[in-house]
Amino acid sequence: MSTHNEITIEDVQRFHGHVCPGLVLGYRMATAAMTALGCTRSGDEELTAIVENDACGVDALQLVTGCTMGKGNLFFKDYGKMIFTVMKRNTGEAVRVAPSREQDARRTKSTMSPEDRQKMIQWLLDSPEKEVLTIQKIAMEPQPYAKIRTSIECTQCYELVMESRIRVHAGKYVCIPCAEILERQPRSGS
Ligand SMILES: [Zn+2]
Ligand SMILES: [Zn+2]
Repeated sequence: MSTHNEITIEDVQRFHGHVCPGLVLGYRMATAAMTALGCTRSGDEELTAIVENDACGVDALQLVTGCTMGKGNLFFKDYGKMIFTVMKRNTGEAVRVAPSREQDARRTKSTMSPEDRQKMIQWLLDSPEKEVLTIQKIAMEPQPYAKIRTSIECTQCYELVMESRIRVHAGKYVCIPCAEILERQPRSGS
């Protein structure tokens, strides 16, 4: 199978720490998205991606597309679905990539024997794109660049917190973990 932007399945395996069906599927999905968009790896922020689970395949997506959690051009929606949406930020041109029904049918068993796992990995690597994936071109609203937000010091632990995540408890700025501790404590005078 072809490599994409010099990111190979071996690179992805090295990054992820092991090879598994989810990783290989993610690699196929991510490379297919890049090809469909006619893109090269996102050096900065020209691509954004939305993932709908936080499983193995997301590591492949991060390496192949350059859309990463740390750069702020990867968005996680906790839907429990293996779907990647990759978008060109400036045009809104996007693709939604999902596993094919055939892929899903082959993966119905939650526990596979080591032989079945190996067969699945090989099938995912060798099969034509159409058998493994479905790709839909969609149009999305161009998205804003990651904001550099100011940080506020938590009045309990004195650690800095992104402005958008700070909470107010009894009139004081607190981080989420400190707020959770405070909320568990019985209020004095009540
Ligand atoms: Zn894995
Ligand atoms: Zn705190």
